[in-house]
Amino acid sequence: MSPSRPLRARIDITALAHNYRLVQRHAPRAKAWAVVKANAYGHGLWRVVEALRGEADGFAILEPETGAALREAGVRQPILLLEGVFSAQDVGLLVEHRLTAVVHCCEQLELIEKTAPAGAPLALYIKLNTGMNRLGFSADDFPTPQEMATRLPQAEVTYMTHFANADDERGVDWQMERFQAALKDWKGPVCLANSAAVLRHPQTHGDWVRPGIMLYGSSPFANESAASLGLQPVMTLESRIISVQKVAPGERIGYGGTFTADRVMRVGTVACGYGDGYPRHAPTGGPIAVCGHRTRILGRVSMDLLACDLTEIPMAGIGAPVTLWGRGEGGDVPADEVAAAADTIAYELFCALAPRVPVDTLG
Ligand SMILES: *Cc1c(COP(=O)(O)O)cnc(C)c1O
Repeated sequence: MSPSRPLRARIDITALAHNYRLVQRHAPRAKAWAVVKANAYGHGLWRVVEALRGEADGFAILEPETGAALREAGVRQPILLLEGVFSAQDVGLLVEHRLTAVVHCCEQLELIEKTAPAGAPLALYIKLNTGMNRLGFSADDFPTPQEMATRLPQAEVTYMTHFANADDERGVDWQMERFQAALKDWKGPVCLANSAAVLRHPQTHGDWVRPGIMLYGSSPFANESAASLGLQPVMTLESRIISVQKVAPGERIGYGGTFTADRVMRVGTVACGYGDGYPRHAPTGGPIAVCGHRTRILGRVSMDLLACDLTEIPMAGIGAPVTLWGRGEGGDVPADEVAAAADTIAYELFCALAPRVPVDTLG
């Protein structure tokens, strides 16, 4: 029996495949890791892996045990562990399941040297810190190709880094220069680009790219819409109006009464709140669509409910369809716009989708 509270997330796997192909069109000479960490950015790991299984060159995740589970489910393409190994047990999983591991510090490299059976095939991504200052070896202590060839001669080595500003004016050149200065004689594979770099910085594409957010149809750029980039939204969050209030001028809406009606208004109450993953910090004015018409949310978002303005949508009564974000009848409500209104990014909205929200697969 499907749950009857009207809130639903719909995941459009046709859009996901479309977005993956857009990665390939932008980076035609590179292979692409489909980044499916964080439960595929809230879209459901297994659903997304199933949808991209025939197309993705590889899958990138965090947990070694998730890598093992993907192998056990029959995934054959390369699987990249973006934070590498955490323990000796993980090194066992790496070898047993032929996982590819990022190595971001000497402790990880030593752990692999000490624990991997002699001669066991290994695929390692040596990560350089070129200015993000989060993970990675510095330019003066990273294991060079020569050093890797003596320490772990059987390892297939790729060098990688991660960009801090691929989506803004600071760009990638300053990090590219540091990367190239450290690896001037390296002719082997490199992997640098996240979604923003896939879309905006072709000089970074290298041998493998690592797109995440663009697969899910959101824009990595604050000033460029997903639609203008040719991306299609994958997650739609929709619900219904479950109550309509006619309020007099001077009446206030919701907890704290942060919105005051300035005229007679029709206010719709939507079955969706922060307990479902809708951002509590979304202010009055945040975008929403009812019966295909764009309107605004009103007052504070509560745990299970939020209010919206139906004054100009007279046909919207109880049961009227509501698009919180994603695809809608009268046009999309981009998750990027909802996120911007709440002073965050769509990545966070998607990851925060609560387990209590039923999810359907479309396409
Ligand atoms: C999450 C992640 C990505 C994907 O970034 P997007 O901005 O979602 O494209 C790429 N590389 C690394 C190392 C990551 O952790």
